[in-house]
Formats: sequence, structure tokens, C-alpha cells
Amino acid sequence: MLMNDSYDRKIDYLRISITDRCNLRCLYCMPAEGIQRMKHSEILRYEEIEAVVRAAADLGVSKIRLTGGEPLVRPGVVDLVRILKSVPGIDNISLTTNAILLEQFAQPLADAGLDRVNISIDTLDAENFKTITRLGDIEKVFAGITAAADAGLTPIKINTVVIRGFNDHEIIDLSDWALQRGLNLRFIEFMPVNDSSFTFDEKFISSDDIREKIFEHYPDMEPCKISGSGPAVNWRRNGDAGSLGIIEAVSHSFCSSCNRIRLTADGKLKPCLFSNEEVDLIPALRDGDLDRHEQLEKLIAEAVVRKPASHRDFTRVNSESRCMNEIGG
Ligand code: SAM
Ligand code: SF4
Repeated sequence: MLMNDSYDRKIDYLRISITDRCNLRCLYCMPAEGIQRMKHSEILRYEEIEAVVRAAADLGVSKIRLTGGEPLVRPGVVDLVRILKSVPGIDNISLTTNAILLEQFAQPLADAGLDRVNISIDTLDAENFKTITRLGDIEKVFAGITAAADAGLTPIKINTVVIRGFNDHEIIDLSDWALQRGLNLRFIEFMPVNDSSFTFDEKFISSDDIREKIFEHYPDMEPCKISGSGPAVNWRRNGDAGSLGIIEAVSHSFCSSCNRIRLTADGKLKPCLFSNEEVDLIPALRDGDLDRHEQLEKLIAEAVVRKPASHRDFTRVNSESRCMNEIGG
């Protein structure tokens, strides 16, 4: 079993960014132009991702999340899900998506063994959606959510980044919308990542402010546990299938309960989302002289040991960090 000594954290969750490409350009995630794309030769092949997952599973990782960029733009993603689901020890595979392509992929993904989806949507207004994503058609997201529910990719979690002056006035509308549909909506604090088009100090809203708005409108919400909800704090009203939650990565540290490591599309393990530290798996994956499985196990264990006890002050942009589309969120 993979343990990190700080706080006795058991690491059983691997998030894999399978591409840095995306069919949207969200203002808080990517620049409009001048994006440095990874070369195709740098991006891990599916066979290499499988090798990493087999090594991680042998060390006790049981949960995988596929993310990106937009994971559904990478050809063959359904086959990847099927391959990873057959790895002994992997019992849960989920995927984070903007849902633009989900209507066509939901059923094939479910048939291949995908368990659940997290869907990102920051507004219910078609024009606002186009503004924040620079490209997107909100109707495709709604169709994707329906298809995911029909395919049984549930419970569906919704990720909503809260941005001052953009969607903070929609917190209650979004909450009502999610609760009426039995969705688990989590409001995410805007993080100051590199190459975001927003100035952090102007756009950040703290979880305390979000919580206040929620409780003013729904005074009868009770804390609840949502399975697979990681660092979110969640609430639900008696009898509701849906729930509301907050991921307060910036204003509150949840490092002591962090159970995950991240793999970038170009083969680097990141012990912590907020640190530039990385463990490079490429030599182990591509140097034919090495015992690949053994080397990968060693490097994964090293990444876990290098998980910091807690992350740095995250209220300032880290100019050396990767963009969010490269890390996977
Ligand atoms: N393209 C997929 C999507 O949007 O769901 C998966 C990748 S995206 C990088 C994963 C998550 O990161 C999304 O929910 C997105 O809203 C979130 N994210 C991106 N940039 C962020 C930022 N600056 N602050 C907080 N969350 C961010
Ligand atoms: Fe693409 Fe997701 Fe980033 Fe939006 S948040 S630009 S959908 S990777």
C-alpha cells in the first residue's frame, strides 16, 4: 500500500491527463492564443498509460480518473477505459469532461466500464457560456448530461468554478438546477494558475462567501458524505438526491486528506497540484534496457514520498506552473 508519512495519508487515487488538447478555451484555464502544445511524440501512448496503471495498481491504487485537456477529444478513449478497467486492482474509473462530446460517448464509455463522470459547467446562460468558454454551445452540455444519466454514469458531479462578476449571481440558480435534477454540484474556488486570462485578486470569491449565499437561501441544508467526492465539503436537504458542495482549495488547505497523485499527458507524476515538483516516468517507460514495471513502481513510490505535508500559499500566481489543461485539474 502507498503511504505518505505526512498525516499518514493512504494514496489510492491516480488522476491521468490523457491529452493537453481541448475543444474549448475557458478564460480561467487556457490562453486564447499562443498555446504551447505538447508534441505527439511527447504524449504517453495508451500502452504506456496502461503500464503506469498496472504498476500503480500493484501498489494499492484502485481509483482512476481520466482528465485533460478534454479527454473526449483524444481518439480511442473508449478503448483506453476498457483496457484500464481490466487491470487487476482497479475498481473505479471516472472521467472529468466539459461534456461537449458526451452525448455520443456516454453509452460507449459506460459499456467499456466507465463508472461515473464529472461535468464542468459554470453558467446556465448560453451567452455567458460562450463568453467563458470562448467557443462552447451550452445545449451540447445539457444533452451530454442527459446522455450520461441515461447511460448510468451516476452519481453525476458538476464542477462550477465561481468567478466574481461572471457567475456569482448564478449560485442559487445553478444550485436549484442541480438539486432538481439530482446532480451533485460542487462550487470550486478559482485558482490562480498560469496563463489564466483573469486577474486572481479581482475574480476570486472565497468559499466562505459562497457558503453564506447557499445557507441564506437553503437554511435547512445538512452536511453529508458523497462517495468519491474527495476534498469537497457537501450538504443536502432531507429527501433530495442532489447535493451542493464546495472545493475550497485556495482558502482552506485539505492536504491532510489528499489521497491522490497526478500523471500529466507527457508522463510526469505530480505529487501535488500546487507544486512544480514532478517525477519523470519517461526514462522508465521508453528505455528498453530497464525492467519497466519495477522502475515504474519505484518512481510512483518516490512521488508519493515527495507529496508535501501541505501546499504553499496559493493566493499568488505561480509563473512557472503548467496551465490547468496540462495538469487536469
Ligand atoms: N476539460 C475537462 C473539463 O473542463 O471538465 C477536464 C479538464 S479541466 C482542466 C478540469 C477541471 O479544472 C474543470 O472542472 C475546470 O473547471 C477546472 N479548472 C480549470 N482551471 C481552473 C482554475 N483556474 N481554477 C479552478 N478550477 C479550474
Ligand atoms: Fe478545456 Fe476543461 Fe480547460 Fe475548459 S477547463 S479550457 S474545457 S481543459
